[in-house]
Amino acid sequence: MYALVADLYPICRSITGDGFRETIRRLGQLVPLRSTEVPTGTPVLDWTIPREWNIRDAWVADAAGRRVIDFRRSNLHVVNYSVPVRRRLSLAELRPHLHALPDHPDWIPYRTSYYAESWGFCLSQRALDALPEGEYEVCIDSTLENGSLTYAECVLPGQEDGEVLLSCHSCHPSLANDNLSGMALGVALARDLATRPRRRWTYRLLFLPGTIGAIAWLARNEDAARRVRHGLVLSGVGDPGPLTYKRSRRGAAVIDRGVEHVLRHAGSRGGVLDFLPYGYDERQYCSPGFDLPVGCFMRTPNGRYPQYHTSADDLDLVAPAHLADSFARLREVVEILEHDRAYVNLSPRGEPQLGRRGLYRATGGTDLPERELALLWVLNQSDGGHSLLEIAERAGMPFAAIRAVADELTAAGLLRPAGDHASPGPRTDAPAGGIESARSESRGERS
Ligand code: ZN
Repeated sequence: MYALVADLYPICRSITGDGFRETIRRLGQLVPLRSTEVPTGTPVLDWTIPREWNIRDAWVADAAGRRVIDFRRSNLHVVNYSVPVRRRLSLAELRPHLHALPDHPDWIPYRTSYYAESWGFCLSQRALDALPEGEYEVCIDSTLENGSLTYAECVLPGQEDGEVLLSCHSCHPSLANDNLSGMALGVALARDLATRPRRRWTYRLLFLPGTIGAIAWLARNEDAARRVRHGLVLSGVGDPGPLTYKRSRRGAAVIDRGVEHVLRHAGSRGGVLDFLPYGYDERQYCSPGFDLPVGCFMRTPNGRYPQYHTSADDLDLVAPAHLADSFARLREVVEILEHDRAYVNLSPRGEPQLGRRGLYRATGGTDLPERELALLWVLNQSDGGHSLLEIAERAGMPFAAIRAVADELTAAGLLRPAGDHASPGPRTDAPAGGIESARSESRGERS
């Protein structure tokens, strides 16, 4: 994962353009990807696909022709989506176009101007303070032309009718934690899932530009959106902070309870944040017309670490150990999604005699008491109405321990899956009505 972050780090990405496409091309060497191009001007929900932005070079040169700000040294130096510019101006005229961070004088800020035509440069406060009065030449060799927006999907089919949506915004230039770490985690998980002989759910991993990409995907994939049972936005998963989860709009969907369960048993100090209609693309997936059960899986939340959206979000902020921890916990979440279901106790009148069936064998093992207690919890709660995750929560035990004994009890003929009634939670069905009503509302507004 770290090697992938380092490989993608130098590329100048944006919400459209060749940097994004090159990123997708490299990801496609690691996981099967299908990419989609949505032409400029295409209406997507309430938005319109913008013109495509590409940049070759950009600089500010002093009177002697020396580049005092140089895109080739850092792609953060140019305000992302800057319109092309070539002119001479005084420092006073240039200054409104320069952005710096007085509180962190060595860092370059990351700024964008996607939906308002403007141009600008970002530089360290120290470099800004060092600019002498005089005339400067400014060049932004960019194009803003009709083209398309790119997004890519990796779809790994499963056996049941339902999807797990994993969404990674992939539009930031040289920033390591936000968003390259999330993309690397998504790739690692997809590679892990691809090796499994059996998947319960279809996994759909999205690499898309933030906001407009999620909106474009939703506009073009209402059927797939309707099949989403669980979902996560992956972002900011490589920094040293503890894992944090932001709940979906629903608040108590299986994904919400599952991630909370994993973080609690992992002893994460990061904790759980309630839903907030701000942040990443959960804003789009959790808009009321979709209301998908999609939370946000991250370490330090966006905006809560000083390096966020600056040149200090670099390859030193992200570490392999943090990425590995994020991967291990995310895999535990997937285990819950894959195996959470309700069971029926086939010998519910009194406790079945477990010793006779060899289920109490290993007396004396140190972990035996918890396993025995787990057996009793599963037998007691398996009336078809309580899922394994609910049992694990009530028992205060890790899901993996509860699931292991459910497998044993099933093999011993004491338990069977509760069938269709086992699909976890009453609110996991995709809100088809919500999508339909949103569609008719937007028709109504336009008419
Ligand atoms: Zn960001």
